[in-house]
Amino acid sequence: MQRRELLRVVRSLVEQPTAPFHEDAVRDAIVAELKKCAHVRIEHDAFGNVIARYRRGTRARPRWAFAAHMDHPGWVRTEKGDWRFLGSVAEHFLVNPRMREFGDFAMWDLPAFELKDEQIHSRACDDLLGCAEIICLFQELEASRANVHCLGLFTRAEEVGFWGAIQLARSRILPKEITIFSLETSTPRGGAEIGRGPIVRVGDRLSIFDSGETARLMSLAAAHDIPVQRCLLDGGACEASAYQLYGYRSVAASIGLGNYHNCAADGSIQCEYVSVADYAKMVRLCLAVVCETKRSDPSKDLRDTLEKRAERYTPLFRKM
Ligand SMILES: [Zn+2]
Repeated sequence: MQRRELLRVVRSLVEQPTAPFHEDAVRDAIVAELKKCAHVRIEHDAFGNVIARYRRGTRARPRWAFAAHMDHPGWVRTEKGDWRFLGSVAEHFLVNPRMREFGDFAMWDLPAFELKDEQIHSRACDDLLGCAEIICLFQELEASRANVHCLGLFTRAEEVGFWGAIQLARSRILPKEITIFSLETSTPRGGAEIGRGPIVRVGDRLSIFDSGETARLMSLAAAHDIPVQRCLLDGGACEASAYQLYGYRSVAASIGLGNYHNCAADGSIQCEYVSVADYAKMVRLCLAVVCETKRSDPSKDLRDTLEKRAERYTPLFRKM
């Protein structure tokens, strides 16, 4: 996908205002983008989560569901009419906030989209960029006439503790053999850096993810020459932890995020930012995952490698 088209999709989402339980505009923009794909069907569950299905030329069941959330920390108006901030942000940032109101909810008064030094700056990269990646993935599949079957899950109110993902997992409408791939933006940790490729997230603050499928992400990235970083991102938690608690096999990857939840290191409130190159590489990684034709077994490959190495040392074996 051309860089210009990637950025157009990003922009179409980040320009929409959002907050937990106020994802209407983002949802509408997602649906409008997906309607351009002839092989995508869209469903809405009873809780307002969006389930998109790309299916072309195959009767196979979907193996992958790509997951991202449509909200971002912000204020919502309570029944009494006062503002309540939803999302994980330290108290001192919330004193005399510069707010921008959108009816019954409000966001930080910051630019929706700016491109500076090959970085996307926005009041809400988390997780509208995850949503945009799924759209780019589906548009790529459509353009390349890929004969595959996969799902995209766009959930609500992640920032209050996976509200939408929990409803979706509990309703059991997803096939239980599917692997859920959580797409996030996260503060780099464990040696990861912004601009050095997507971060394959072995786990988060709450749990670790499926080892075999994580190995698959690593081997697909290597096979497709996509630079990735493999790290434990334990600064926060992601939906992979939630889905996993309900028995779904889960993996996760993030693009490195600056100013997580708009909190800058100097104590001010700023746009979040990510690297355009990391974003483009994440879309390529997702594409490699869905389009894997001959399904390899990373555990078997590793076992073979280790056994071969072990055999080389067998001549040195002596009975004790
Ligand atoms: Zn977040």
